[in-house]
Amino acid sequence: MTTVANRWAGTGVAPGTAVAESWRVDRPVPAGSGPIDPDRVGEAFRAVAADLTRVADRAREEGRHAAADIVTTGALIAGDPGMVDAARRAAASNEPLRGIQDAVEEYARLIEELPDETLRERAADVRQVGRRVIERIARSGTGTGGRAGGAFVLVADDLGPADLLEHLAEGLVAAVAVRGGASSHAAIVARSIGLPLVLGVHADVLDLPDRTVLLVDADAGVVVADPPEAEVARAGQSATRDRRRRVELASERGLAHVTADGQPFALLCNVASDIEVRVGRDGGAEGIGLLRTELPFVHSGHWPTLAEHRHALRPILAEAAGWLVTVRLLDFANDKVPPFLDPAAAGLPALLAHPEALAAQLGAIADLGRGVDLRVMVPMVTSAEQLRTVRAALGEPAVPVGAMVETVAAVEAIDELCAAADFLSIGTNDLTAEVLDLDRTDPRARPELTAHPQVLGLVRAVVAGAGRAGRSVSVCGDAGAHPTTLPLLLGAGVRQFSVACARIDETRYRLRRLDTVTCGEVLAEALTLPDADTAADLVRRRFEVAVL
Ligand code: PEP
Ligand code: MG
Repeated sequence: MTTVANRWAGTGVAPGTAVAESWRVDRPVPAGSGPIDPDRVGEAFRAVAADLTRVADRAREEGRHAAADIVTTGALIAGDPGMVDAARRAAASNEPLRGIQDAVEEYARLIEELPDETLRERAADVRQVGRRVIERIARSGTGTGGRAGGAFVLVADDLGPADLLEHLAEGLVAAVAVRGGASSHAAIVARSIGLPLVLGVHADVLDLPDRTVLLVDADAGVVVADPPEAEVARAGQSATRDRRRRVELASERGLAHVTADGQPFALLCNVASDIEVRVGRDGGAEGIGLLRTELPFVHSGHWPTLAEHRHALRPILAEAAGWLVTVRLLDFANDKVPPFLDPAAAGLPALLAHPEALAAQLGAIADLGRGVDLRVMVPMVTSAEQLRTVRAALGEPAVPVGAMVETVAAVEAIDELCAAADFLSIGTNDLTAEVLDLDRTDPRARPELTAHPQVLGLVRAVVAGAGRAGRSVSVCGDAGAHPTTLPLLLGAGVRQFSVACARIDETRYRLRRLDTVTCGEVLAEALTLPDADTAADLVRRRFEVAVL
C-alpha cells in the first residue's frame, strides 16, 4: 500500500530501525549482452578478492576465526590464475555471463573430484566467488552501481534466509521485501540476528536505484526513501532507546534460570550460522536447541554432498565447541523446497528415500560434531519408523536422536514417538500452520496464533506424552519467544525453550517473572476460548507482557 511516493507501509516482522543506502540483491541479470572486455572480468575477480579480504579481516577482529579462515580461502580462490583465465576467455562469447558461470562451474567440479575431503569443501567457495564476480559485472553493465562499501539495506522482491546470512558480515543493517510473511524463514533468521525486516512493501521499492538512502522502521512497518533529516534523527533516538532496553535486559545474564515460583527452566537458542552461535553464547543460552541445516541449500540444484555439508557446518560447530548442539537434519519442506525437489514430494520422506543424501549429512555431522555435546533431531516426523531409520543410518557411536513434533500426525502418534526418540522438540511454527491451514509464507501466519485452543491442546498432549515416557520436551518454534504465547506454553508444562538468539535476554526476563501455577490457570481458560486473538487478550489482561 503506497501512501506517498517515497514512503511505503509494510509489515515489520523483525523489530528495529536503521538508515543506510539501499542495494537490490535480486536485480535480474541482463541476458545476451554480447562479448565484453576480458579486462573487466579480471578486474571483477580482483575486486571480489578485495571485498572478501575485508570481510575476513572484520571477522578476525571480531574473534570469529573459523569464519575468517573460510572467507580468506574465498579471497585466495578469486585470485586463482587458472579460473580467472578460463573466465576471461568466456568474455568473448555472446553470453559472457553464462560463459563465466560455466567456467567457474567446471572449476568447482574439478575440486569436487579431489580425493581430500577438506579440499572438496572448497567447491562451495568457488561457486560463491563466481556468483559475486557475475553480479559485479552485470551491475556495472546496467549502470546501477554496486553496493555501498559500508552499511546497507538489502531490497528484494522475495528474500531467502541465505540472502541475509550471506551478507550479514558485510554491513547489512536492515532488509525490505515485497513478498513474504512473519513465519517465513527469512523473517525467522532476521529475528534471530536482530536485523530489522519489513515485508509486504509495494513493488515500487524495487525500482529505486541502488545507493538510495532508506530509512527502515520495522517497529512501525514503514520504509522511507531519501528521508527528511528530522525523521532520521527520530530513528536514531529510537535506535538508542532500543539499545538501552537491550542493555537492561542483558543485565540479567548470569541470574538463575528459575520462574517466579522457583521452577527451573532451560533456555537454549536457535541458530543457522556461526555468528548466531556467538550471539547465543554471549546471551547466556545453555546450548543450541535447533540448528537449521537446510538454509544454505534452499537454492541448490542437488542433494548437498558430504563436502558441502562439512563446508556449511564446520564454522558453526567450531564456534559451538563444548556446547550442547542439536543438529536438525535437512528440512526441505514448505517454503524451503530447493528447485531439484518436487514440492509435493519434498520434506522428510524425500530425504529418507535418498539414503546417500542422508548418509552424507550424518557423516558430516558425526565427524564435525566430535567437539560438541551432539544431538541429532529429525524434522517433520510423522512416524516412529522414520526415527528408527535415522538411528540405524547413524550407526555407532550412538548419538541421541530426537523428534520434532510439528505435525498433527506426530501428536497423534506421541506414545510411539516417545518410545523411539531420546527427546522431543515442538515446532510450533509448522504445527500452528497445519492446524489453522495456513501456508508458512502467508502474511496471516504469525507466532501468536499458537494461542489457538486447538494448537494449545496439541502442545498439552505432547507434554503429557513426554512426561509418561520420561522424555525431555522443548519448544523451538517462535511462539516460545512471543509475549502472549510464552505464558501459555509454560502453563502447558513446557520448561525448555529454544529461541532466536536476539530474543534470549527478553525470554529470560519474562520467564523469571512468570508463575507456573498462574500460567496453568490461564492456559486452562485459554483452552475454552474460541480463537487465538481472544486467548492473547486474556494473556494481556492477566500478565504484564510489555518489557521495559
Ligand atoms: C517450527 O516449525 O516451529 C520450527 C522450529 O521449524 P522451522 O521454523 O525451521 O520450520
Ligand atoms: Mg518446522
